[in-house]
Amino acid sequence: MSTPSLLILPGDGIGPEVMTEVRKVIDWFGAKRDLAFDVSEDLVGGAAYDKHGVPLHDDTMARAQEVDAVLLGAVGGPKYDELDFSVKPERGLLRLRKEMDLFANLRPAQCFDALADFSSLKKDVVAGLDIMIVRELTSGVYFGEPRGIFEEGNERVGINTQRYTESEIERAARAAFELAMRRNKKVCSMEKANVMESGILWREVATRVGKDYPEVELSHMYADNGAMQLVRAPKQFDVILTDNLFGDILSDCAAMLTGSLGMLPSASLGAPMANGRPKALYEPVHGSAPDIAGQGKANPIACILSFAMALRYSFDQGDEATRLENAIEAVLASGARTADLMGPEGGTPLSTAEMGDKVIEALDQSL
Ligand code: NAD
Repeated sequence: MSTPSLLILPGDGIGPEVMTEVRKVIDWFGAKRDLAFDVSEDLVGGAAYDKHGVPLHDDTMARAQEVDAVLLGAVGGPKYDELDFSVKPERGLLRLRKEMDLFANLRPAQCFDALADFSSLKKDVVAGLDIMIVRELTSGVYFGEPRGIFEEGNERVGINTQRYTESEIERAARAAFELAMRRNKKVCSMEKANVMESGILWREVATRVGKDYPEVELSHMYADNGAMQLVRAPKQFDVILTDNLFGDILSDCAAMLTGSLGMLPSASLGAPMANGRPKALYEPVHGSAPDIAGQGKANPIACILSFAMALRYSFDQGDEATRLENAIEAVLASGARTADLMGPEGGTPLSTAEMGDKVIEALDQSL
């Protein structure tokens, strides 16, 4: 098989800083695990605008369509706030998601034991938490027509349309069931079938797709109850399947169960390419953090964990992904912390580069 290809787009703000640490990890896997990647690097967001006048050059877009996976840092920053909407840094990221047709957004919420005190919930509610939210990303109420603000009589009306075709639901559901097969074989589908026709169809299609996965236990829950259960007893879930709007809210809610924004990876997957791998974009959930950019304070773990997701979901290297996650767990258990992870007891925080080096040391120790 040919060497898997990876396009790295560090972006703006802390993006390049955290990506430097990911490069160390990629190099480690090449040197120590014989896992070579054909890595290329390019510009996105404000960095691309500065050079090309657009937040994503056509050549970069074309390259993103060819590679096995794209790994992105973050985009945006105050320098670009006054730009026209059409060339704002975020448009680069949106273009990637749209043209790669990345319909399944994977947001894990995993609580490392060493950070259980960071959650706003009680430690025993979140310790050991490991759930995955699959959010449909390219349809639903954020895209449905008609939409707009219209005159009606002597007042205005704002309209958005929740619209889902069976095939749009089916491909998201399949992504969730495939994931569950690699995990604890449980899918909970969340919608509002009690008050929305699109929810009734969602439930029907999820049930139908579930028949193709007899080993996976499928349950259904109204999304409002899902929100309550996520903060009451999140460990009851394995994979949560939901639509674009509910997924937007539920995934942010689940994210906060685990503490810091600097710890949260994500993946967005599309249809399989000719080689069987899904189109894929991996990125930390956090933004470009202009308040700490250039100061060596950023936590690189979210971006490193995004690479771990790439190992697992694009490169069939689940064992190596687990090795990397375990290394991060060991680093945190040893008490190593970047500034965002410092508790009230204080201490001296590690810099971005020092945290990256700790992860490499822990990887060395895993051999
Ligand atoms: P942000 O995620 O950049 O920062 C929020 C807070 O979390 C800040 O205090 C920041 O210092 C902290 N933080 C974030 N990541 C961290 C890390 N890895 N380590 C330590 N601390 C971290 O969100 P924001 O401030 O709302 O947005 C800043 C810029 O990022 C804006 O231009 C916004 O549009 C952009 N943004 C981009 C993305 C993306 O690229 N996917 C996502 C969100 C926001």
